[in-house]
Amino acid sequence: MLGVRRGREAMAAEVVPLAGGPGGFEIPDHEVHRVRAWAENRDLDILALFHSHPSGSLGLSAADRAALVHSQWPWLVVGHRPGRALKLALYGPGDVGRRSPASVRLSPGRDHAN
Ligand SMILES: [Zn+2]
Repeated sequence: MLGVRRGREAMAAEVVPLAGGPGGFEIPDHEVHRVRAWAENRDLDILALFHSHPSGSLGLSAADRAALVHSQWPWLVVGHRPGRALKLALYGPGDVGRRSPASVRLSPGRDHAN
C-alpha cells in the first residue's frame, strides 16, 4: 500500500499487487525493488503491506507471525468474509501476536469522490 505520510497520519493512495514467491509470504527482492521504484516515481512511500483473510479473522497465523518479525513495513490485515462488514487491523513488525493501537480510517478515494 502506497501513500503519503503527514506527521503521525498516513493517507493511502494506491495498492500495488505483489507477485509472491512460492508458498506464501516471501516477497522476492526484485518485487520489492519494482514497488520502491513505482512509489518513488509517484512521490509516494510504501506505507504498509496488505493482505486479506477470507475467514474474516484478524488474528495472525503462524506464517503471518513468522514473516511479520522480518518485515520492514507494518501490515494491514483485512478480514473479508462475504456478507459481513470489512474489518481491519494494523500490526507493526514489533507487534507480533497483538494488534497495534494505530487507527485506520476508510474514506472514498479520489476516483470515487464527486
Ligand atoms: Zn494473514
